[in-house]
Amino acid sequence: MALVSAKEMLTKAKAGHYAVGQFNINNLEWTKCVLQTAQEMNAPVILGVSEGAGKYMCGFKTVADMTKAMIDSLGITVPVALHLDHGTYEGAKACIEAGFSSIMFDGSHYPIDENVEKTRELVAICESKGMSIEAEVGSIGGEEDGVIGMGECADPDECKKVAELGVTMLAAGIGNIHGKYPENWPGLRFDVLAAIQEKTGVMPLVLHGGTGIPADQIRKAISLGVSKINVNTECQLAFAAATRTYIEEGKDLQGKGFDPRKLLAPGCEAIKQTVREKIELFGSADKA
Ligand SMILES: [Zn+2]
Repeated sequence: MALVSAKEMLTKAKAGHYAVGQFNINNLEWTKCVLQTAQEMNAPVILGVSEGAGKYMCGFKTVADMTKAMIDSLGITVPVALHLDHGTYEGAKACIEAGFSSIMFDGSHYPIDENVEKTRELVAICESKGMSIEAEVGSIGGEEDGVIGMGECADPDECKKVAELGVTMLAAGIGNIHGKYPENWPGLRFDVLAAIQEKTGVMPLVLHGGTGIPADQIRKAISLGVSKINVNTECQLAFAAATRTYIEEGKDLQGKGFDPRKLLAPGCEAIKQTVREKIELFGSADKA
């Protein structure tokens, strides 16, 4: 199956009160693990690619071509969207060119008028190519220079304004954070989420920073209109922990344990397990 826009899978998710997982990829193994797990669970899936990960994987064209070839050779039949995560204006254009099926334009650092203007232009291009596009309002917290910022909650009226530009999905800051959550994190702002949902109606909402949000808060967010949840750090932590155990147990020193196919296997299994748990939690199993 060819790459698809995220529009149909998210429209279905919003109507069916579940969420599609976006799992960020970093290399061949990551891509393979996410695709295989989505197929095994018969779940639609979104592969997220940050600009940094795109560069690391030798550019967006390499990522798009690798993913398409992998879908073909693994016999993947569930819907797969290849999505630029937190794209710049230039990055968004490069991904459209490279054959991605979805982009996020993160114009949240521009003044609202410029954000709106650039979003409008990219919406028109995506529409003409049958691609989906995500926009962001407010800001999502995270660590910068060792300090964890709490982000800025989105203004529901601003969300409405951006939703009306014709974007496919909308990321809104509601107290969520990229990376690990600090001990004193006060939790998601469900009052803000409910107000946004009320102003934006059927628009699928996106929750970034899915790592470490307690399961009950995830379920509540889905019930209030979140249809896409981004998971990145959690797969990285799981991969690193399993790889650490393998080496600490000296398995790389036994037989051919140094073979990368053996060395990376426990980490890959850990990514798969994380993706499985998230698909269960988000309710997207058997929704392909
Ligand atoms: Zn994000």
